[in-house]
This record gives sequence, structure tokens and C-alpha cells, in this order.
Amino acid sequence: MNTKKTAAISVSVALTALMGAVIASPAAAAEPKPSQEPRVSVEYFPEPGGEGRRTDVPLNTDTVTGRSAARSATPGAGTTDGQVGELSVTGSSADRLDVVIVGDGYTADQQDAFHTAAATKWADITNIEPYSSYQGLMNVWTVDAVSAESGITGDPTADVTKDTALGSYFWCSETERLICADIDKVASYAAKAPEADLVVVVSNSTKYGGAGYSGLEAEGYPFGGVSTLSSDNAQSSMIAAHEIAHSVGLLADEYTYDSYGTWTGGEVADINSSSFTAEQLAANRTKWYRWLGETDPTGGTVGTYEGSSYYPFGLYRPTANSLMRALDISDFNLPGREAMIAGFYREANALSSKVGTSSAVLRTSSIKVSQAELTGLASPELRWYVDGKRVKRAQGLTTVAPAALGVAADGRTHTVTVESADRTRSIRDPKVRAEATESMTWTVKASGHKAHQHH
Ligand SMILES: [Zn+2]
Repeated sequence: MNTKKTAAISVSVALTALMGAVIASPAAAAEPKPSQEPRVSVEYFPEPGGEGRRTDVPLNTDTVTGRSAARSATPGAGTTDGQVGELSVTGSSADRLDVVIVGDGYTADQQDAFHTAAATKWADITNIEPYSSYQGLMNVWTVDAVSAESGITGDPTADVTKDTALGSYFWCSETERLICADIDKVASYAAKAPEADLVVVVSNSTKYGGAGYSGLEAEGYPFGGVSTLSSDNAQSSMIAAHEIAHSVGLLADEYTYDSYGTWTGGEVADINSSSFTAEQLAANRTKWYRWLGETDPTGGTVGTYEGSSYYPFGLYRPTANSLMRALDISDFNLPGREAMIAGFYREANALSSKVGTSSAVLRTSSIKVSQAELTGLASPELRWYVDGKRVKRAQGLTTVAPAALGVAADGRTHTVTVESADRTRSIRDPKVRAEATESMTWTVKASGHKAHQHH
């Protein structure tokens, strides 16, 4: 994790704290917390294709009586327990958003089934834009977790208990479709991967269910969020696609609770919610005003639709429906898409080079750079500059020598700069455009007759 990422996580924590201050968790008021047990907020989706709900659940399941039957099984020697696999590795972890997928309810003999399920789930998620176009900014790792028994607790019925590596279970908080897991156990497996920015737990089940944990940094975990989902239910994949958007895009929920009534607290921090109408957004040049009136991938037109961030009245969302509102649609709206792309660039670097910038390079030496492979919506471009002046004929080159770029042997020090920019039309905010632009600059050692005069 580089310093850039640490900063991004701080922002995320600050925003979460801010959201918490502005919008009270409905569960916080509804459910008294049992003493001592650490609890954390989760989101779940009671019905396939429906809207989400929030509640709070225990962080760990060992102490939950009558539910998880995790009996700290120690897998026998010769199993693949703890083994790390590469599902899609596109670059160094320092330059990528690292997603770790861990399986639960798979026995030693079922690890192939876990790998198949992980690949299927990731394929479902990356069928959705902008995940699809920006896969090149992500690494995806799998970690084998060997369970003593096949399947998980609560499947098919509430009375079923299974001894599994991560203690995941349906019927969490008395809610059938809510899959909780033992987050300490999840963290210990995720830690085996080179890095974990996000964790996905795939539980061996055909039953629809899942959840999204947030606020885990505050509990001391090194990752932003954990999504749980069942392995053999295609609609469960949408839960992870939605949850990752909270962590990466910092997007708010666009669904509402009737009991919340009317929001009267003024403008909110959420990117995709506003107390302003379309006219006011345009007049104030704020939030998604740049997208107003555009035809949206969700099928409608970007505007202001009443009801967002849990409040049915007084807050507006950008489109009638979107993946942040209900799981019956697999598209983000245009403002959501831009926020996701911003998030990818906040946590990853599209540009890297093994030639360090801290020491000067020779005029005749090669500078090799690599640019993340981005497709579809993305429009990556590579530009070179000498002393700040663009060298047009070098556009797109990934290996250059300063001399070939035109650095003269005139005894003076020069600089060579490479800039990776994303000209995608899915970005309209100049701040996001700047986030999607990265550059590296090398000093070229002075050479030529003036330098020789010193000898
Ligand atoms: Zn949500």
C-alpha cells in the first residue's frame, strides 16, 4: 500500500464518519447493543433484485450462540489451506487495488470448486461497467480456506450448523438472507495475499444471500470492506458489485426507508445525493450538475429524483434507478460511474516504471514505463515531454532514450517527463480528470563538450 492509498483510506474514514454524523444508522436506534461484543454495520438485500437494508452484527462469530458452529477446525496436513492463487494480477500491489477472494464451506477436496466459483463471481462483477473497463487497475487474489464440512450454517434451514473455516452463516441477526462471517478469521486468511484492499467471502451455497461490512478500518482491520455472497446464486454477485461501490467509489445508497420521512438537514456530503433540485445543482455548479440531461446507462435521463440516502423526501438521486438503489439493475448511473473511476485511480496508479526518478539517468540510457491495460470506456494516453515541452512523435511509446527524444549533449541538465492520462468521456469533473492523470519526471545527467572541459 503506497502513501497515496493511505491518504485515500483516511478520506474514506472521514467521509464515513461524516455520513454517520449526518445520517443516523437505522439499526443503531432499532437494536440495543449487547454489552462488550464489538458490533459493526452491515448492509444486506432481503430479496433478489430488491433494495438494501442496514443493521449491525457481531464482528466475530465464535461467541454467537446457536448460530455459527465454527469449532476452530485445524485442516490436516497436505491440504491447500492458506494457499494464495492469482485470479487476475495486472501489476505491483503498490500500484493496484487488491481484491482478495476467500472461500468458506469448501472442504479440502472442494477447493477446485471454490476457484471456479471465485472466477465466476469476478466475471459477473467485471461484466458491469466501469469494473469491466478498469480491470487493469485491479489485482484479484484467491486464498484457500479449508473447511471441515461442506456448505455453511443456516443452509438450507436455520437449524443447520456447519463447521467451516470462516464461520459464515445465513440467518445472521435473525435475517435469512444476511450472511455474516467471523471477520477475524476472514482477516487472517486475507492477510496471506500480498495485499488486501477489499475482501470478498464466497460461501458454498446455492441459496441467495450476502452482506457488505463497512467501517472496518475503525476496528483496526487493514482493508476497507468485506462483502459476503453465496457461490452458486448468480443474483448474489450483484451484492458484491454494490458493496465494492461503497468502498471504492464512496457512493451512498440511493434507496429509502419510509420511516425516515423528510430530510431537513441541508446539503449532504454524499457524492450521489443532494438536497438540491436540478435547477439548484446547475446554479450552484455542484455534485452531478455536469451530467444533467444526459441519457443514462440505467435507461433514463440524469436529473434529480426525490428519495436518496435513506430519506424518501428532501434528498435527490441522479436517476430513477441504479445499482446503488436496487439490485434489479446492473448499471451505475453516469455520476456513479465517474465516482467509481475516480476511486480506481485514487487507489491505483496506471503509470509505473522500474527506472527510479530519484537519481539522474544518462542521455543514452533507456527509460521503460508501463501503463495499465484499460479498455472500453477508458481512453488511456501516454505523452512525453523534454524540459516540459511535448514531444508529439513519442506519443504512446513505452521505451525511450532521452537522446532520441531530443535531449541535447549541450552540457546542461534536462528533464524527461512521461504523462499517463485517461481521456475517457466518463469523466467530466476536472478534479477527477487530474486524479486520472499521472506523471513521472527524470533528470538527465548533463553531457557534451562543456562537461568534458572539466576533465
Ligand atoms: Zn449499499
